[in-house]
Amino acid sequence: MRKGMDIHMKWEENVRKVVPYVPGEQPENKTVIKLNTNENPYPPSPKVKDAMAGMELDRMRLYPAFPEQTELAEALALKYQIDKEQIFIGDGSDDVLSLAFMTFFQSGKPILFPDITYSFYDVWADLYRVPYETRALDEHFCIRVEDYMQPNGGVVFPNPNAPTGVLLGRGEVERIIEANRDVVVIVDEAYIDFGGTSCLPLTQKYDNLLVVQTFSKSRSMAGMRIGYAMGSRKLIKYINDVKYSVNSYTMNYAALQLGVEAVKDEAYFQESCGKIMRTRERAKKEFTRLGFTFPESYGNFMFVSHDRVPAREIFERLRENDIYVRYWNKERIDNYLRVTIGTDEQMEALYRALEKICG
Ligand SMILES: *Cc1c(COP(=O)(O)O)cnc(C)c1O
Repeated sequence: MRKGMDIHMKWEENVRKVVPYVPGEQPENKTVIKLNTNENPYPPSPKVKDAMAGMELDRMRLYPAFPEQTELAEALALKYQIDKEQIFIGDGSDDVLSLAFMTFFQSGKPILFPDITYSFYDVWADLYRVPYETRALDEHFCIRVEDYMQPNGGVVFPNPNAPTGVLLGRGEVERIIEANRDVVVIVDEAYIDFGGTSCLPLTQKYDNLLVVQTFSKSRSMAGMRIGYAMGSRKLIKYINDVKYSVNSYTMNYAALQLGVEAVKDEAYFQESCGKIMRTRERAKKEFTRLGFTFPESYGNFMFVSHDRVPAREIFERLRENDIYVRYWNKERIDNYLRVTIGTDEQMEALYRALEKICG
């Protein structure tokens, strides 16, 4: 009996076991003020809506086009003034980053990323058996450039960083790249459109730099799953080769079509990012007034800590009031909340609730 059971369980020894990434909650209840996953509170461009209404049903019988041969690649190339061959398009930037880990971090040496950062990086590293080491941010949650100057198997960090919102200047990023010409450096610019300076121009100078961006935050299209990477033709060719070895058609027809409209509507994009940034600047005043401190944020979120009330308690009490924010019970950040910038109305409701909780 015992023996039989052992044999029966044997297959389990050879399973790829991973601890998956845990995204923020998506509540069923639509009345919740949802400030927990950095989604954009405004809808996508009205041009996206028009294109959706005009979409040809019959086209769905066919496989979509290869992403790099689409109008979306052309629209992005035009917007960012680079060649189409310097763009890789994927199923959200999580797909792009995951493929980039699989493609570029093969040396067997540990890759480096900050201790406080996007909590998907260690998941991909474990999944693909990429060794990694983290480097502690300084006491102001800033990346210490010197920490990235030892031999390594690659470097990845978000800029602005998540969940802190702290931006590293382009000169500093360039120092990291300069010191790491023998590996691939990935800069995850998921939040760059909210006031940061992109490192994209550096891709013309450094063929080992991959800049990753997304439609999920600044273009209000998290549900459509569109992400992209920009870099040298060589980098893009390598990631495409891997992608076509996993799944040729990650991008669905609708996403490829609707993405074009979002990129073309530059005026709407600027206006929508401008609104978020104005609300964020007001939020800085309000949070200060309410007794919070925070690092200077360049994202569509703020990372706040109260001088008296523990973050966990605020998190729970906000939740009882149907206001969702993000809390991590994790060393160094367990007294912080990450609050997505919502509409002005949503933020007013948040301040009112916080006055009661922290007042
Ligand atoms: C949101 C986010 C992403 C992933 O966004 P997608 O929706 O997959 O495009 C990547 N990196 C960081 C730092 C993020 O916050």
